[in-house]
Amino acid sequence: MSAGLPFFRYHPDPLASGSIRAAAETCTCCKRSMGWIYTATFYTAQDVSGRFCPWCIADGSAAERFAGEFTDSYGLDGVSEDVLHEVTRRTPGFHAWQDPHWLVHCQDAAAFVGEVGYTELAARPEALGQLRSDMRIDGWHDENRLEHFLTSLGEGATAMLFRCTVCGAHLAYTDAS
Ligand SMILES: [Zn+2]
Ligand SMILES: [Zn+2]
Repeated sequence: MSAGLPFFRYHPDPLASGSIRAAAETCTCCKRSMGWIYTATFYTAQDVSGRFCPWCIADGSAAERFAGEFTDSYGLDGVSEDVLHEVTRRTPGFHAWQDPHWLVHCQDAAAFVGEVGYTELAARPEALGQLRSDMRIDGWHDENRLEHFLTSLGEGATAMLFRCTVCGAHLAYTDAS
């Protein structure tokens, strides 16, 4: 981790995921140029003309001032209200084709790791196994088609990888254009 960025429990490496980048841009919340800027989603009914620095995300000031959320609460079932607010209001979101959503494990929000393809996913067999069973539940009954889809991840469709903050297990969902 570089430059003394604030630590985000549910998105520990936002530089690796591309959600925060080095930039001389002025933060639209604190009006300061902090050297880093947030580049991913923010949902608000207000007209927000610029982007935020990581500090205004971490202390909740950006979400509060512009009455918005970095991530939709969809998928965040069974977590405490504190955790829900930390993820939606004080954690950087991420880039995805579909509306990004967060995964839950051990009744806590999981930490977002990044967008991955099949190779990275295959290195975490528990995530691949969980994805396979989720997709079967979603109606992928043709095993050949399912395996072909999984091994093609990274070309068009990708997987969003998370890591449980409690037990350390990896989990994922698929995202496609
Ligand atoms: Zn700021
Ligand atoms: Zn867990």
